[in-house]
Amino acid sequence: MVESKRSLPSDAPRGRAVVVGGGYAGLVTARVLADHFEEVLVLERDAVGPDSGVHPSVPQGYHAHALLAKGGDVLEELFPGLRAELAELGAPVFDYGERISFLLPTGYAPPDPVGVSIQTFTRDELERRLRQRVARLPAVRLLAATACETVTGSAPGRLDRVLHRPRGAAGPTEAVDADLVVDASGRSTSVDRWLTDARLPASGTTVVKAKITYTSACYARPPEDRQDFDVAYQMTFAPGVPRGGVVLAVEHHRWMCSLFGAEGHVPPTDDEGYLDFARSLGNPRLAEQIKCGTREGEIHRYTNPGNEWRLHHKNPRWPERFIAVGDAVCVFNPVYGQGLTVAALEAELLGRLLRQRRAKGAGLDGLSRTYQRAAARLIQVPWTMASSSDLMWAPDRQPLSARFAHWYNQQVFALAVHDPGVWARFVRVLNMTAPPSLLFRPAVLAKVVRRALARRRGAGGAG
Ligand SMILES: Cc1cc2nc3c(=O)[nH]c(=O)nc-3n(C[C@H](O)[C@H](O)[C@H](O)COP(=O)(O)OP(=O)(O)OC[C@H]3O[C@@H](n4cnc5c(N)ncnc54)[C@H](O)[C@@H]3O)c2cc1C
Repeated sequence: MVESKRSLPSDAPRGRAVVVGGGYAGLVTARVLADHFEEVLVLERDAVGPDSGVHPSVPQGYHAHALLAKGGDVLEELFPGLRAELAELGAPVFDYGERISFLLPTGYAPPDPVGVSIQTFTRDELERRLRQRVARLPAVRLLAATACETVTGSAPGRLDRVLHRPRGAAGPTEAVDADLVVDASGRSTSVDRWLTDARLPASGTTVVKAKITYTSACYARPPEDRQDFDVAYQMTFAPGVPRGGVVLAVEHHRWMCSLFGAEGHVPPTDDEGYLDFARSLGNPRLAEQIKCGTREGEIHRYTNPGNEWRLHHKNPRWPERFIAVGDAVCVFNPVYGQGLTVAALEAELLGRLLRQRRAKGAGLDGLSRTYQRAAARLIQVPWTMASSSDLMWAPDRQPLSARFAHWYNQQVFALAVHDPGVWARFVRVLNMTAPPSLLFRPAVLAKVVRRALARRRGAGGAG
């Protein structure tokens, strides 16, 4: 039994943390916890081994995953040398402006450098590398093929006891007590049940629907294939551009391709239909690369219903010793590529809070609420960016704020295709290396207003 009321001394890690879910967010969080706890137990229901990348409970892993620049920086801090390790396998590192063929709803983005560096690879390789590194940490114990059945409390108002058993096995569960339990079990989390069984209120949720279907495959590139881009992208944009897609140059000289469509625009899973869908896009580079590549493995499909945020930070009786991270808190529409970066930032935040407490000699009481509120402030920006855009799939019923944000985005896109300075700012905001306010500074705002006035005069003159 772990003592639960003592203070964490500032010198040595003490106590035990249990992480429910050994996927991406669970691994990144375990890396941070290993600096603060003597033992970090990670429970993963899939039978993952040292070489596992994507596994059955993470079906989204078969689809293109772009890591935003901010996420790349945080991962590199947590896992020094990760970028070089992936680069050795052939995952390119490049300037976002220079090597992306980016088709905005208003035309192609300028091909100028923007000073934002990113790297492209498969989710499969990323998860494999993270798991191998986390497994090597002395404090960490990864228990694979082990499902958390429930989380209960050693005292009222807590969730600090995890009951687990080998996946698929009948028989009794094993209980493990922890100083901190982390829910990293993804979008299928059972947190509502754990809370209500403990006589605590379930947290509310906010949902913004944006049904989008991904169909994806990986292609070996011919040895002589050298392109002047590492990403070709066509973004969807509500309500007029329901089809999009991306090809990413990834490790081992391959293209990772995802085609996606809103509502009824479902990319097919047969080769011919897949290529036809790619040909229907405005950016021809996707179809060109699919055509000259050799498909490896299956074509996978996944439908994401939209954005969903569990409002744990507003739960008036959020339990002690229990926090939630990654998709278990907030699922974003994947087209904005935010999930991996937000989970990395949440792990970084947790590390910061634990360090502060240790420096003060403070214990863990109150941490769960402080963490959940701070995580909500972190989620707010990407959430607003994703959800305000997605509200416009049904434009008629939307509040003025969403319609204004949509209108402003359109103006920024229209400027960006001719103005490398505006494009560079947009790229920084998109990659979470700058706040959205960067697009409302006078340099951009003045151009937006001038453009809007000129169009108004033009429309008036024509009329
Ligand atoms: C089609 C698609 C494309 C995407 N593209 C991008 C992108 O380009 N960029 C980006 O940043 N994000 C992208 N995302 C989002 C990204 O996939 C998620 O944000 C990320 O996977 C969240 O990681 P997670 O660890 O929270 O959840 P998951 O990856 O779902 O992992 C949850 C883990 O918990 C385990 N688990 C669940 N229940 C239990 C239990 N009871 N006991 C033990 N283990 C359990 C599961 O087996 C799994 O391993 C995309 C998502 C989709 C659907």
